[in-house]
Amino acid sequence: MNIHEYQAKRLLKDFGAPVSDGRVVLKADEAKTMAGELDGPLWVVKAQIHAGGRGKGHFKEPEAGEAGGVRLTKSVSEAAAEAEKMLGRTLVTHQSGPAGKQVNRVYIEDGAGIETELYLALLVDRQSSRVAFVCSTEGGMDIEEVAANTPEKILSFSIDPASGLSAFHGRRVAFTLGLEGKQVKQCVALINTLYKMFLEKDMEMLEINPLIVTDAGDLKCLDAKMSFDSNAMYRHPDIMALRDETEEDPKELAASKHDLNYIALDGEIGCMVNGAGLAMATMDIIKLYGSEPANFLDVGGGATKEKVTEAFKIITSDPQVKGILVNIFGGIMRCDVIAEGVVAAVKEVGLNMPLVVRLEGTNVELGKKIINESGLDVIAADDLGDAAAKIVKAVKG
Ligand code: GDP
Ligand code: MN
Repeated sequence: MNIHEYQAKRLLKDFGAPVSDGRVVLKADEAKTMAGELDGPLWVVKAQIHAGGRGKGHFKEPEAGEAGGVRLTKSVSEAAAEAEKMLGRTLVTHQSGPAGKQVNRVYIEDGAGIETELYLALLVDRQSSRVAFVCSTEGGMDIEEVAANTPEKILSFSIDPASGLSAFHGRRVAFTLGLEGKQVKQCVALINTLYKMFLEKDMEMLEINPLIVTDAGDLKCLDAKMSFDSNAMYRHPDIMALRDETEEDPKELAASKHDLNYIALDGEIGCMVNGAGLAMATMDIIKLYGSEPANFLDVGGGATKEKVTEAFKIITSDPQVKGILVNIFGGIMRCDVIAEGVVAAVKEVGLNMPLVVRLEGTNVELGKKIINESGLDVIAADDLGDAAAKIVKAVKG
C-alpha cells in the first residue's frame, strides 16, 4: 500500500525526522489561506499523486500550464494560483502510465534553499532477507538511471537483524554522501529514525529523493515515498486510514473488497483460475500460444458462487479483455461451485466474447453438466494446453 508525500512527511515529522512545514490543499479556495500560514519567501506547490517523477511530468490540460507537478513560487498569491491550476487536472509522469493521474490534492510547502541533493532509501532486500539501505550523491534524479550509467555512485548494504543498526551504519552513509561537521551527527540520527519507523510500521520501501543539505548546512527530507506491506496493515489502523482509494485501480479495489487475489495486466485474455501457481502457469501458457493475459486472478480455495460471480464481473469490466479463460483444478475448490458461479455471472452481466472453460478434479462431471445444460455458448477444453490454444484461436481468429 502506498501513501502520499504529505502523509509520509507527517509520519517522518512524528518520528523526529527533519521536513519542511507544509499544508495539504483539497479545494482551490483553501489554497491562499494555507499558503499564508507558511513563512516564505519560497512556496513550493506539489501535486500529490501515487507516482514519482512529478517535477519532470506534464499536465494533459493546457489550463494547468507548461510546468510539471512541482512548482516553485515567490508569493502566497502565486502559490494559490498554481495550486488552482493543478487541482482536478491530469498529471502524466514516467511512473503514472500514459493515462496519467488526476490531482485531487496539492501540498504547499515552505520552500527550502538547496545546497546539494542526495539519495537515500530503505527497502526489503529479498535476496538477503534483510532491510537494506541504498544511498548516493546523485540525488534528485532517477536512481534507475544512476544505477544503469554510474553504478559506482551507489552504496548499498543490508542490516543484520541479529545485531541491528549501529551508529557506524549512519557514519558510513554520511561518509558516502560527503557530509561534514554537524551533518554527520544529523545523518546518524536520521538513519536511526528511518530504520526504526521502517520496522515499526512494516514498510516495504522508504525513499527520500532528494535528501538535501540546506543552504544553512542542515539535512532535510525534501521528498518522501513510502509503501507498506499490505499483509501487515491489520495491525496499523493509523496507516490504513491514510489509504487513498482514488489512487488505486478500480478493478483491484473491487477485488480486494471481495478478498480476491487480482492484479490487472495489459493483455487481452481474462483469466479465472484457482491457486496462484496454476494462475502463473495459465498466464505462461497464454503467452506461449501467442497472446497476453489481461490479469492475474486466483479465486482461492474457498470461493463461493458469489465470489466467483464477482470475479467474473471484474474481469469483464476490463475493456481490454477480448476473451476469457476459466481454468480450475478442483481440489478444495469444487468444479460445480465454479460452474454455478460462471453461469450465474454470465446470466447477470451477459457474455459478448468467447469463453473457454477447463475443469478438472473434484465434482468435474457435475461441473461440466451445469455448464452444458446452461445453454451458454461455452467452449469446453480438456487440458491446459488445449484450453490456451482454444482461447487464443477464438480471440485472434
Ligand atoms: P518528484 O519530481 O516527484 O520526485 O518531486 P520532488 O519532491 O523530488 O521535487 C523535484 C525537484 O524539485 C527536487 O529534486 C528539487 O530540485 C525541486 N524542489 C522540491 N522542493 C524544493 C524546495 O523546497 N526548494 C527548492 N529550491 N527546490 C525544490
Ligand atoms: Mn523526488
